[in-house]
This record gives sequence, structure tokens and C-alpha cells, in this order.
Amino acid sequence: MNENLSLIPRPVSVKTTGSFFRSPVLPVPEGDTAFRNEIETFKEQTTSCTNRRDAQAENGKKITLVTDKSLGVEAYVLEINPQALILKAASPAGAYHGLQSIRELVLSSRGETGIVLPCAEIVDYPRFPWRGFMLDCSRYFYRVEFIKKIIDALSLHHINVFHWHLTDDQGWRLPVQKYPLLTEIGSRRLDYRSKAGYSGGFYSREEIRGIVDYAASRHVEIVPEVDLPGHTSSVLAAYPGLGCTGGPYRVEDRFGIFEEVLCAGNDGIFDLAEAVFDTLAELFPSPWVHIGGDEVRFNRWDACPKCKQRIEEAGLTSSRELQSWITVKFARMLSERGKTAIGWDEILEDSERYRLPEDAAVMSWRGREGGLRASRLGHRVVMSPNTEGCYFDYRHYKDPEEPGRLQVSTVYQCYNMDPAGPELTEDEVPLILGGQGNLWSELIYAGKIAEYMIFPRLCALAEALWTPRAGKNFTDFTERLPVHRERLDGLGLLQYRGPLG
Ligand SMILES: [Zn+2]
Repeated sequence: MNENLSLIPRPVSVKTTGSFFRSPVLPVPEGDTAFRNEIETFKEQTTSCTNRRDAQAENGKKITLVTDKSLGVEAYVLEINPQALILKAASPAGAYHGLQSIRELVLSSRGETGIVLPCAEIVDYPRFPWRGFMLDCSRYFYRVEFIKKIIDALSLHHINVFHWHLTDDQGWRLPVQKYPLLTEIGSRRLDYRSKAGYSGGFYSREEIRGIVDYAASRHVEIVPEVDLPGHTSSVLAAYPGLGCTGGPYRVEDRFGIFEEVLCAGNDGIFDLAEAVFDTLAELFPSPWVHIGGDEVRFNRWDACPKCKQRIEEAGLTSSRELQSWITVKFARMLSERGKTAIGWDEILEDSERYRLPEDAAVMSWRGREGGLRASRLGHRVVMSPNTEGCYFDYRHYKDPEEPGRLQVSTVYQCYNMDPAGPELTEDEVPLILGGQGNLWSELIYAGKIAEYMIFPRLCALAEALWTPRAGKNFTDFTERLPVHRERLDGLGLLQYRGPLG
């Protein structure tokens, strides 16, 4: 461990005192009842670290949690002295982050002699409120257990948003009671590798609630995404009447961008959206709903009499404007349900006449230009540029043996991604909510491959989103990384171990 205790992300400040805290077993967390849930979660997370549970009672050493209202909402202060660990926080979120830093230290200090920690005072708080990770569960259907494993690992790194990509051309994973065929038909696609000839699945309402609760206990907010009006082959296969041509359609077993999209001239798509948004509002407590909006091809709309009629009636000039018109409609439907829309940066295109509602947020993926433009227009922004390491489905390194596709996202790029770079004005900086890493799963057809693609890029990105700019140093990060890798190994997470940049 180096003088920063090899914590990742690097805390705002760490002062070591030279002495040590020693305990044959994990110290018992206790203290303020406001932090009862966090203490329970921490115990659950660390049971595997305490194989001699009986000894816990004999050992007098404690982790004492104390409320300190002077601290920021996600901040914590951790004092490690030879007798005890004292953790101060203003809120359960701050207490949770502090406990996760303790968990990191415990994961990397399990020896024959028990737990040995350097005494220190750590002061810590995040740079950005939105520290996100997106998992595409449409192109590959990940099991509930795997999703929980990843959410737990995110929270170890103080990542607090899990963006759950639930629908796409290759599979619809969200049960909507009024539209049962979305899951009956839309969740299954041809798969020649499968003995049954098809593969897929969907998450039941109970499973979704279970994941939401599990994430909440780890202070991770789940932002669901239902991608509309493009990337909807799975919807059209189930309800062909919602397309411009009427089909036939199929749940796509190929990857790419398809010209089949929802027919903008058909009012039925808004009935569907109402039912989908009702379901999301019911199942997900987050104030945000991600509406996708990316990669819509316009040739079907250009040729469709119903779409042409819509363009005329709404006083629009082109199919491109039709997309803004739909986006605005979706955003209003969400706000009627107390939710705020966030979408990929395409939702900003051709929106001069049909301006996005002011509170809608933009997720910038095609570089950071979309995000910069959005912030100039006063929208909130999450930066997730594919050009700066945020696409975890790209190769880790320029090597044909590496899994991944399209381009390269190195650990170094992830580390240096700065959501609020110098190109922003003072007024625009507060509009930058933070940043996010995305794992699209076209080629990631197993949880283990997903882990390999996620780590250690996520560790680097976590530091880019948490640590103050002045505290960032890539060389220092690489010196802490070997200790941190042991922690990831301890959690059974597969990692890429090649060149970092
Ligand atoms: Zn149409």
C-alpha cells in the first residue's frame, strides 16, 4: 500500500500517522441508528472476510459511525487510530462511501495475522454527482445475479448510477402489462448457437424490484432506458402495426443500425409509450428516465404517408424535425409522471423549432460536442464520450487478440476523461452532472467477458468522476492499481491485465 492506502478512487486527502491498527478479525461496525442500513449492508459484504466470526465478539475493536452534519451530502471523514475506526458522515450516502473505503482496505489487508491498517485521517467527497455505468442487457441478456454483482462492484468504487439499457432491436427485457407481446415475442431472437434455436429472456417485475432494492441498499440509483423511436425491431416484431410498412418484422439477430423504426404518424406509438412510462414510473424510483433517441434512420418516415401527414399537420419541415417533435412529446409524458427525460445527444439535433424541455438532460456519446452544445443551451449533461475511453465495448488496447470492437478505449483515456474540461464557461460547469462508462454487449456474450471489459477501466473512470482534478495523477493511479487488483480478485472479478495506454 502506498501512502494513499492505495484507495481507488483516490480520496480528497489522506494523512497517515505512521502507526497501525491491528485486529485478528474484522472490527464490528456500530453507531448512529441513522446508518443502520449501511451497517447491515457492510456486514453482508464483509462476511467472507470474517471466517472466524466467533472471534468478533472477543475482539473489542470497533468501527464507530457518527453523524456530523457539517459534512457534505456524500462526504465522509475516516479516522483510523490504533484502537478504532471512526467514521463521520452527514448522510447515509456519505456513511456508505466511507464504509466502502474501509471495505477496500479490508479486502487488501487479509493476512494470516488478521487485519492491519495504517493509521490515517481521510477526508473525502465527490467531484460530480452523476458517476455512472451503463450495461446493455438487450444485446445480451445478463442474469439477475450478475447484475447484482456488478452493482455491488460499482458501489465499491463510489459509482452511484446504474443506467440499465433494457430494450433494443435484439431484445425487449421490460414486462409491460398492457402489451404482453413485448416480452412474449420481443424478448426472444434467433440464435444458432442455442440448441433451442433462439435465446433471450426478460426481467420479471419482482426481479426488477429486487434489483432496485439491492442497488438502493448500496446507494446506487437505477436509471432505466427504453430506447425509442429507433432501435425498436423487438417492438415491431411484437406489434407490427406500429411500423410504417406493417412488416413483416423480426427481433434482430444481426447487429447494426436498422431502418425499421416506430411510425411517427401512428398515434398507437404514444399509447405504447404511455404504458411503458407508467410501468417505469411504477418500478423505478429514480427521477430520471432514459429515452434513448439515438441512431434513428429517416427513410421509412420519408416514404410513409402517415408520417408525411404528421409532418404537415404539426407544421414541421422534415423527418428530422419529426424526431424532435416526438422527443418533446415523450419528455412531456414523463414530466406528467414526475420524471425527467435524459437521452443520447441525437435528441438535440434539429431541435431549434421544437426545443427540448429545459429540464431534459443530454448524454453526450459521440465525443463531447453534443454535451457542450447542450450546456450552452442550458441543459444538464452527462459526458460519456466514445472518443475518450467511455466505451467499454471497445478494445482495451490496439491488439487483434483483444476482445472488443470498433475502436480502442485505454485505461489511460478513461483516467483522463474530464466531464468539465476547460472549454466550459463558469456558468456551464454546474450543468455538467458528471460522466459515465458504457458497455454495449453485441460481442459480450458472457458475464465473465463483461467483467474483463469493465475492469480496470471502471476503476480509472471512477477516479475521473470522484477525485478533484488537482488530485489526479495517472502514475500515482498505476502505483495503487496492483493493490486494488487484489481486491477485485477477492471479489471474483475478471480483469484485463495488459498495457494501460
Ligand atoms: Zn410512418
